[in-house]
Amino acid sequence: MSAPNIETIVSLSKRRGFVYPASDIYGGLGSSWDYGPLGVELANNIKKSWWNWAVYERDDIEGLDSSIILNRSVWKYSGHETTFSDPLVDCRDCKARLRQDKLEKDADGKFICSNCGSTNLTEPRPFNLMFRTTIGAVSADDDPSALAYLRPETAQGIFINFKNVLDTSRRKLPFGIAQIGKAFRNEVTPGNFIFRTREFEQMEIEYFVRPDEVQQLHQEWLDAYVEWIKALGISTENIKLYEQSAQELAHYSERTVDILYRYFPERSDEEKQWDELMGIANRTDYDLRVHSKKPEDADGKRINPDSTEDLSYFDPQTNERFYPYIIEPSIGVNRTLLAVMMDAYTEKTTEKGETRVILKLTPELAPIKAAVLPLAKNKPEIVEMAKKLKKDLQPSLRAVYDDTGGIGKLYARQDEIGTPFCVTVDHESLEDNAVTVRHRDTWEQERVGTDKLREYLLERL
Ligand code: ATP
Repeated sequence: MSAPNIETIVSLSKRRGFVYPASDIYGGLGSSWDYGPLGVELANNIKKSWWNWAVYERDDIEGLDSSIILNRSVWKYSGHETTFSDPLVDCRDCKARLRQDKLEKDADGKFICSNCGSTNLTEPRPFNLMFRTTIGAVSADDDPSALAYLRPETAQGIFINFKNVLDTSRRKLPFGIAQIGKAFRNEVTPGNFIFRTREFEQMEIEYFVRPDEVQQLHQEWLDAYVEWIKALGISTENIKLYEQSAQELAHYSERTVDILYRYFPERSDEEKQWDELMGIANRTDYDLRVHSKKPEDADGKRINPDSTEDLSYFDPQTNERFYPYIIEPSIGVNRTLLAVMMDAYTEKTTEKGETRVILKLTPELAPIKAAVLPLAKNKPEIVEMAKKLKKDLQPSLRAVYDDTGGIGKLYARQDEIGTPFCVTVDHESLEDNAVTVRHRDTWEQERVGTDKLREYLLERL
């Protein structure tokens, strides 16, 4: 089972402190969200899992953390200033602003307003998605020399550091650079909770390869990502691959495969249940070329007169110099978090006929690994023992102490937030130095000696 719709996750998130609407006390800010005590833990665990898998467990990736605001030339030569736009249309009837490429067409091929159903829409015009800002205390808002952008992707920060990383790490092809960071896009139609927002976080790898090995390595990255997504606990029936058509490919891409997640299971048309979790593109040698000072056009003119570096690679094996091809797997933290929560969502009926929510997160991703609960909070010895157990566990795993309700309520609360283990201290514990460990998914209970508790939990996490 997984969540029947995104709304279920929205209300669970608000109720339990995963994600709140941002700026709520001032009426909110369209499609902005804040990550609460549990949401920040879950997002951090996703990022940790990705970094472990991508950077530590492989031996061909280096990490990087580049700036959010870059020299404007980066966005000029990458093509973002001219092409990073969505086709914007206005509905003349209901005044909605819409992205034409996301609209359906009627039988005559006319685009239909998704808000009111009218086909009375304006001609599309390109709307650049980059957030603009100005740099420096004295700059006027319209001073072009002070204009800068918030990055709409982390990738460009990697390309412009290619030579730095190559020189300092002494890498040989193929190798990659990984980065996690915020990106900003002034989306025309944000929405669907954290699926599409104007501020979000990406986990990107730019993997540099020889042109003749790009196809095989592209496929290997695709296979590897499917496995990693499954290891996050996402079931195979809720993911599928989508090969972008020639018309859909970005101008720099030779092949892009998207991995889709079933974010909209409630839609009756199966085709419409899916949307993009991530994309894996073969970006050819476009990026390193456009940021290099060297290449010239047919008339011998430098393509990039502003760059001070040549980002080509010298291959010592073949004595050849060339611009590496790039494979780019790019995945959003927020869309991953949403998919993980939707997939982990389950309901179970108790013997009394009550419906309980269980969030079956993998132990690696669970925000809290163990909750230590006193069976009687009016008995100081029990409370003291439970608090000490929590403290002893904390250096090895994220544990909490909770005595704010009856034991049934406390168990239900932990099930709903995905805590794999509850540890209960009762009257007997004072005699036998043992506690009851309750498993989230089976509700089975086991008696474990307090001296063995840490090892017992760590083994199962
Ligand atoms: P879409 O077609 O949904 O607009 P995209 O193809 O423009 O996405 P990319 O530029 O390939 O997205 O970005 C890589 C990844 O970053 C996406 O697969 C997604 O996980 C994430 N992402 C992109 N835009 C957003 C957004 N506005 N909100 C949340 N995550 C996003």
